[in-house]
Amino acid sequence: MNLDAMVPNYVRCFQNYVPSRPDHLLLQEYGAPLLHRLNNNENPLGPPPAAARAIASFPPELAAIYPSGDSYDLREALGRRFDISPDRFLVGNGSCEVISLIIKAFCQAGENIVTADKTFAVYEWVAKFSGIEARLVPLRDYAFDPQGMLERVDCRTKVLFVCNPNNPTGSYWTQQILTDFLEKVGDDRIVVVDEAYREFVEDELYPDAIRLMERFPNLVVFRTFSKMYALAGLRSGYLVGSDAVVDLVRRTSVAYSVNVQAQQAALAALSDDVEHIAATIALVKQGKALLRGVCNELELETIGGEGNYLMIRTPINDMLMYRRLMKRGMMVRTMTGFRFPGWIRVTLREMAVMESFAEALREEIKVIRK
Ligand SMILES: *Cc1c(COP(=O)(O)O)cnc(C)c1O
Repeated sequence: MNLDAMVPNYVRCFQNYVPSRPDHLLLQEYGAPLLHRLNNNENPLGPPPAAARAIASFPPELAAIYPSGDSYDLREALGRRFDISPDRFLVGNGSCEVISLIIKAFCQAGENIVTADKTFAVYEWVAKFSGIEARLVPLRDYAFDPQGMLERVDCRTKVLFVCNPNNPTGSYWTQQILTDFLEKVGDDRIVVVDEAYREFVEDELYPDAIRLMERFPNLVVFRTFSKMYALAGLRSGYLVGSDAVVDLVRRTSVAYSVNVQAQQAALAALSDDVEHIAATIALVKQGKALLRGVCNELELETIGGEGNYLMIRTPINDMLMYRRLMKRGMMVRTMTGFRFPGWIRVTLREMAVMESFAEALREEIKVIRK
């Protein structure tokens, strides 16, 4: 069998993402007494109470039955929530799945996507292993650079991805910046705004991209139940677009990719999110203040805007810092993979964990600087 001859070059050359191993193996490897995961921007409060109840009382006999193939009830609820047609939503197995759907629907060989160099990497990955060029525009002052992106657009550009707010820097475009950008891009290509962290943003100048679709029918918005709604383990996220766009994208989607429990939990979460969101925002604020304070005291530079995460510059290589913190039971995200060598990203969690993390960081920095 000559696999090299069978597989496209862009698949053979692709370096796949290696997920972290299960807790019990990591605890063994690092000899840590416990493990706090501060690497995936998960919400430590867990899902809103109504979603928690739906999960706890899930009837096992439903596991034998295929789910709604197009997340019917969930889309109805989303339609009511945002006051638009349920047909304008396409639910996926996490919003990562809808990234693939968009690229499949719009891009073919020789075409390209445009996004930032230091952002959520899945846009770039899906493009690359699909044989599509990913044009990566450097961030400017740690934010997506609209002018820089426009300069990279050509007649083969099909999709532009804007992460708003940006993971990992927390920067975001205001309504003004986004609408100017959409005006200049024109309507011959798709602009995706990934709002995975939108529920964490409180600034009034932050745009609600769904409300801009009347004016810009080439606009597509991604949202997820993984972050604020704390349903990352069940996998559900969705895209919203104009009727015509969603009708096309739906052709690239295999029905039944969203399981029945994920659909039920997301539906329940939507109905019971007001106090949950307020409590999560309060927790993130406290965590951010604490961690910023500790970093100031240790003279470590930070980058953090909106979102439940904070980047910290480390005085040593980020992978070495990761190992040191792991031995103390603290798992962070190394940022070399995000093209930020020498930085880590830390998920903002409940105060007890933030305090333990701060202690571990203090100790390690002391040792490093000795
Ligand atoms: C976490 C994240 C997602 C989504 O993930 P799913 O769990 O697949 O819904 C999407 N975009 C960004 C920027 C993220 O950080």
